[in-house]
Amino acid sequence: MNKPHAPFILMLEEVNKNFEGYKAISNLTFYMDEGELRVIIGPNGAGKSTMLDLITGRTKPDNGRIEFGKDTDLTRLNEYQINRLGIGRKFQTPSVYIDHTVSENIWLSLKGTRAVWRTLFARVSPGERDRIQDVLKTVGLSKKAEWKAGALSHGQKQWLEIGMLLAQDPKLLLVDEPAAGMTDEETHKTGDLLLSLEGKHSIVVIEHDMTFVRQLARKVTVLHQGTVLCEGSVDKVQNDDRVIEVYLGKKRKRK
Ligand code: ADP
Ligand code: MG
Repeated sequence: MNKPHAPFILMLEEVNKNFEGYKAISNLTFYMDEGELRVIIGPNGAGKSTMLDLITGRTKPDNGRIEFGKDTDLTRLNEYQINRLGIGRKFQTPSVYIDHTVSENIWLSLKGTRAVWRTLFARVSPGERDRIQDVLKTVGLSKKAEWKAGALSHGQKQWLEIGMLLAQDPKLLLVDEPAAGMTDEETHKTGDLLLSLEGKHSIVVIEHDMTFVRQLARKVTVLHQGTVLCEGSVDKVQNDDRVIEVYLGKKRKRK
């Protein structure tokens, strides 16, 4: 893998992370361009979520370099500082305020998590109202603005949480298995949503569902045993013998 020309938004170089002797991340090197939508796939336990933990400061690497944009060393910063730089992460399970309405959820996020109590007694300014409406339109929840978040379907909760991240206008968005537990139709909508964000934000999407990966049709990085096994177009990785072996557990017969 050749180092790309700057400007890249994210760089990991020779990163390692052991958990009690288990090598979860092993010599991981990864570069991503600004504005890129990158898909990461890999079998369970490949280290995909750990990679996001390392980027967001939830876990610290044993060694290696992790840099954001031009010269920002993420290994020296804590989770909160990294988030403040404009790196937003969506975990696999949605975490929304179920007793608040959809628009209140976006509003709370817009204000920043530290201001929750003050925010609930404040007024929504016209500027904030516009911003909330923009975000709800982007994630397809305008008609549900006054619903309690708890009344949304699983898929809608996932979109609301993506909306809550967007309210903070992140430079880099990290999305871990957004389509897990979604219907086919919800999965497809999620794909369209992520594609609509391309260029405005740099996005890393972790996903298992190959139909979804094909829909995104962007550069794919295959992770296996904590390191990059293969990188390239969907066709390239799907036809790579090592990838086929990892996913199917056998060598492809050569004709
Ligand atoms: P993926 O997201 O690709 O399924 P993970 O990154 O969750 O894989 O996990 C990779 C490996 O690292 C797994 O074997 C997992 O059990 C281990 N692991 C991840 N986080 C921790 C942790 N905090 N403590 C111990 N082991 C961990
Ligand atoms: Mg995971």
